[in-house]
Formats: sequence, C-alpha cells, structure tokens
Amino acid sequence: MSNLAAEPEFEQAVHEISSTIEPFLAAHPEYRKAFEVVQIPERIIQFRVTWERDDGSVAVNRAFRVQFNSALGPYKGGLRLHPTVNLSVLKFLGFEQIFKNALTGLSMGGGKGGSDFDPKGKSDNEIRRFCYAFMLELSRHIGADTDIPAGDIGTGGREIGFMFGAYKKYQNEFAGILTGKGDDWGGSFIRPEATGYGLVYYVTEMLRDLDNTDWVGKRVLISGSGNVAQFAALKVIELGGHVLSFSDSTGALIATDGVGFTPADIAAIADVKLRRQALTAFQHDGRFEWHEGQRPWTLFESADVALPSATQNEVSEDEAKALVAAGVRYVAEGSNMGCTQEAIDVFEATRKQCTSEGETAGVTWYAPGKAANCGGVAVSGLEMGQNSQRLKWSHQEVDAKLKDIMITCYTNCRETGKTYVRDSAIPSLVSGANIAGFVKVAKAMLDQGDWWISGK
Ligand code: GLU
Repeated sequence: MSNLAAEPEFEQAVHEISSTIEPFLAAHPEYRKAFEVVQIPERIIQFRVTWERDDGSVAVNRAFRVQFNSALGPYKGGLRLHPTVNLSVLKFLGFEQIFKNALTGLSMGGGKGGSDFDPKGKSDNEIRRFCYAFMLELSRHIGADTDIPAGDIGTGGREIGFMFGAYKKYQNEFAGILTGKGDDWGGSFIRPEATGYGLVYYVTEMLRDLDNTDWVGKRVLISGSGNVAQFAALKVIELGGHVLSFSDSTGALIATDGVGFTPADIAAIADVKLRRQALTAFQHDGRFEWHEGQRPWTLFESADVALPSATQNEVSEDEAKALVAAGVRYVAEGSNMGCTQEAIDVFEATRKQCTSEGETAGVTWYAPGKAANCGGVAVSGLEMGQNSQRLKWSHQEVDAKLKDIMITCYTNCRETGKTYVRDSAIPSLVSGANIAGFVKVAKAMLDQGDWWISGK
C-alpha cells in the first residue's frame, strides 16, 4: 500500500480488513468471493452544489453519496463537510460503516456522503444556503427506507436541521430521512452524546477484562474537541477519570496538573466549536498548555487511556510508540481509522507478546473505531426505530439500550477474536471486529444472491 495509490484512504481501510480476516478466509475459502464483491459500492452519486456567499458571489463544491452496501438494511451513515473530502475518503468511511453498522446488531446497511465544502469561517446564512443547495440534489436519492444520512465532521444538529427543512420543502414529506434531528421534531434523546458515551462504555468493558479495574483515577488523553471528544470526556469525568488533553487541527491543549478539564471547561470548548472557531479561542487563564501544531500523544510521560477522537490517521507509528512508552494500556478510537496501519501494528505487537494467561505487562490493547465508536450510529438506528413507531423513548431507555449494544459489540469482538486468532492470551479486538462484521454482511449477501457458492 503506498500513498501513490489512487484511493489511499480506501485502500488502507481495505488492507486493514483483509489482513485481519485472513484466519477466517483460510478456514472458509468460499468467502473470498464475498470479500471481492463487498469492496465495490452498490452505487455512488456525485453532484455539484452551487450556493450563494453573503457577498452575493457564487460558490461551487463537489458532493457525493456512496451507497455502499444494503445487505443488512437501508444505507446508513453520516455526511462529512470538510475540505479534505474526496471519493477516497468517503469510500473508506462508507466501507468501514458497513461493518460498524453490522456490529451494532441493528438492521442498517452502510453508506457515507459529504462535500469538500469548508464550514470554517462561514456565516450561519451561508451554512443554511449550502445545506439547502446540497439537499436539492441529495433529496432525490435518500428516503426513510432507502438511505438515511446523519452527522459527521462538519455536520451537527444545525446542519441536520437545515437539511431536514430543505428535504421537507422539496418533497412535502415529514419523514425519518435523517438522524440526529432536534429533540422536538423526530430526534432521539442521547443521539448527540452517543458516540462519545458509547466509546467510554466500550472501554469500560476492556478495563474490567484486562485489569479488573474501572475509570476512577485513570489519566485519559483525548484528541479532537468536537462532538465525540466532548461527550467522551464528560462521561470519563462522570465515571471518575481525568481528561488531560484536547486538540484541533492547529495544536493540542494539555493539562499538566493531573486533574484535567472540568465539565465547565468542556461546555466553554463546545461553545467555541459551535462558533466554528479554533481551540485557541477557549479562554482558560493559562490553566492549560498549548502546543502549536502538535497532537497530544507525545506530550505525556505517563497515562492510562488514549481515545483518538479527531479524524483518520491521527496516530502515527512514532506516536503509537510514545503511547506504549508512556504505559498507556488502552487505545480505543472515537474517530474512524484514527490509527495508521503502522500504529495498529505497534499496539498489536505488544498484545502478541502476552502468550500466557495473566501475563499482561507491557500491553497496549487496541480497539478499532468500527467497534468502539459504533454507539453513534447505533442510536441513529434507535432514532429510526422511534420514527417508524412515531414514539419517543426516555433518556434512560435510550442510554440503557446504548450500553447494552456496546457491551454486546465488545463481547462479539472479544469472542470472535478468541475463536479465530490464537496468537496471544489477549484477544485481538481488531481481528474480532473485522471478522464478526464481515461474516454477518457476507452471509446476508449470500442469502440475497449478491454472491453464491457453486454446487450448494
Ligand atoms: N458519522 C457517524 C459514524 O461515523 C454516525 C453515522 C450515523 O449516525 O448514521 O458512525
């Protein structure tokens, strides 16, 4: 795999899965055909979005929706609005989404979309005009039983509101065609919190299984400062941990007092983000250290947990080595493909050193995003369920279901890892996640005639 590849991010995602499902394919070679078929999206829609800037000039962007796989249910996945968006990025995200959605246990296929539109520095009116223009085309291709987009980087509650309003006007239909909607108009409680909370619930299981411990007193490094990072941090604090870092694309903000950020700090950071400002706009009277152009991973001599929650490839091989050297025991991705393949190899090598039961010294246990961050799309699935029933469940009901889904997902990854990969006393959660997700999707595709086994 080289960066000269035409679709480097997509090829990286395919490589990560193909290298880890090999033990399953070796035992079931007939499934190799399914892996070939599943790599090709069922459909890709590409379109142009023209919208009007506040000064009256015309702006134009590229937009896409990758309808990757509908074996388990209608296409489901977020919309990313970021200048780095291109087809390689959306194909990687859509591909990951297929297996992530399978791991939630809900009936959802995989898709992803977005645009190279940059929300930074745009006024609310510009955002609204972009969302309406974007939905003008997208509305022809989605539907409550066809494809249900949601938020991702750059698309939050405000953007979902504008897009929902646009769809309703174009189609004259109030339907569950997006998730992440407002509380009073079809949204689910806990959807904004779900990815971050779910990540923490997943790691809670890892903490218990590896060290028979919990979050109390744990030093936690978080990257990013958006929706996932904020709610993961709030849950960590609620459970007794210390959040020692946040970051954005311009640098890292770290706490050196060992106590870390408070819920009030996080509320202030959320406010800064909502105004589409950089993390440097957060006023903290010098209580935290700013490291320009850095990510948090190399800035600590010791820590317990790392939760990459910004974007893809945000942990390099050297940064992975720094986390291992700092004694970090757990790495779980709130972002999609947060770790490079080289970083995953560093973590997995520490796991493979543990060949006898109970010998876990030196391990940095790694959980991939498609498992650890599936809580967001899981509550999107619960939002779809509530929309179909025209009902609304309480906070407690949704939170309990989210917890249950994360525990089941973790157990599935752990047990599948144990079954197929016997290279260590500690299961590979990345192999377990990939095999469990792939097998479920491949079986549904087999049932539906997307591939078949000759002579059977
Ligand atoms: N963008 C989120 C993800 O990466 C959520 C998608 C959704 O809720 O459909 O899983």
